Amino acid sequence: MNSNHHVTVIGAGIVGVCAGLSLLRDGHDVTIVDRDGPGENCSFGNAGIICDTSSALPLPSPGVIREVPKMLMGKDSAFSIRWSYLPTLMPWLIGFLKASNETARLRNAQSFYNLLDGTTEAYDDLTKGTPNAELIKQRGMLLAYASEQGYASGEGERKLLADFGVEAVELDADQVRQTEPALSSEVQHATHFTGCNSTINPYKLTRGLADQFVSEGGCIEQAEVTAVRHGSSRVTELETTTGARKVDRLVVAAGSWSHRVAAMMGLKFLLDTERGYHTVFHGVDTGLRMPLIHAEAHFGLAQMDEGVRFAGTVELAGVDAEPNYRRADVIVERGRSLLRNFDPEQATEVTKWMGRRPTLPDYLPALGTVSGFSNVWFDFGHQHLGLSLAARSGQIVADLVAGRDPGLDLTAFRPDRF
Ligand SMILES: Cc1cc2nc3c(=O)[nH]c(=O)nc-3n(C[C@H](O)[C@H](O)[C@H](O)COP(=O)(O)OP(=O)(O)OC[C@H]3O[C@@H](n4cnc5c(N)ncnc54)[C@H](O)[C@@H]3O)c2cc1C
Repeated sequence: MNSNHHVTVIGAGIVGVCAGLSLLRDGHDVTIVDRDGPGENCSFGNAGIICDTSSALPLPSPGVIREVPKMLMGKDSAFSIRWSYLPTLMPWLIGFLKASNETARLRNAQSFYNLLDGTTEAYDDLTKGTPNAELIKQRGMLLAYASEQGYASGEGERKLLADFGVEAVELDADQVRQTEPALSSEVQHATHFTGCNSTINPYKLTRGLADQFVSEGGCIEQAEVTAVRHGSSRVTELETTTGARKVDRLVVAAGSWSHRVAAMMGLKFLLDTERGYHTVFHGVDTGLRMPLIHAEAHFGLAQMDEGVRFAGTVELAGVDAEPNYRRADVIVERGRSLLRNFDPEQATEVTKWMGRRPTLPDYLPALGTVSGFSNVWFDFGHQHLGLSLAARSGQIVADLVAGRDPGLDLTAFRPDRF
């Protein structure tokens, strides 16, 4: 038996909007509060891939630790640290190191696999019978390699995923061209993850789900949360730029700012941000049928409804630093030769963007409650996979708020594990 509450969700990114919609459909009154419009932050410009269990292996790993020094030293490398930010980042980096040993990684991968199992179905549930279903395509995803050496070095990961039961089709150069004629001969190998879906526009998807939320009776208010008032075991009130609001139940889905909201409650979370960039060539149709990730150069390439998008790289510089749009150019310089017929001159407009991926040191999200607060649930830290995980996480949060068993062990995702 479900008892209804008023639930306030902080954050109208894809994570907060999906949680809001699931909570609303559970019979609660729901208000989402965001200082900006829905989808205007990290959820605006991602590569649009809705990954399934094929992304179960978290990034921290012995292999990455071996590669990181080389990657950080390279000019225009896929990974960069602003050195002035290094002292602030140190505790996060130490957590990353601890999560990188093989035992911790495999343990985390099993938990993450269980969470990723059901990502595409969760979106089906949210979008069924609405115009938003049209924004999601069932076309799989390619993990592409430009060198034999690169493909060979992925063997260990392929084996681990196969052991987990992930379905994948290995393609040689000819098969890549048959599957995806828009790709040039530079792609030597690819793994086709057939169970992944993708959206043709992540911003429109977030906006569309927000519109759906409002049309079903939800409320979205534009305001910044500036303080959180709490008693001994409950949050009682939020202070916002448009005034105070009473809290019955609270969900924190504030993306890369979630640690700042938590700090208003006296909590310390080791959240940081991996800043990524994109460049979109508007009006350019490359004919790409499905999105791809370049496994060696670490960026994504996707044909969106508005044009072709080059997206990726990781910059560790904190939430507040100014963007460095040189990084958006680098992705294009690396990625353009993967396309057989890419003509940037055809673009009606070229836009660049920076987004902040919310990431905890072990690359697992924070999902659930913390001791000391009986009416607060956290839903943040979805790193490179926030679009993929948003609908599934939202269902889990709705289960938790309703007191239902979400059907998986959430121990690995405890928000206060660091
Ligand atoms: C280049 C790039 C490519 C990516 N590609 C993919 C991909 O292909 N697939 C995938 O699954 N993921 C991808 N991601 C990751 C994905 O975009 C993010 O994980 C996801 O958007 C995070 O969503 P969110 O709702 O947590 O955060 P956000 O979208 O950033 O939303 C958080 C919201 O909280 C609000 N907020 C914060 N603090 C407050 C406050 N105090 N008061 C009021 N509001 C507040 C903010 O205004 C913001 O709107 C990519 C990311 C990047 C950068």
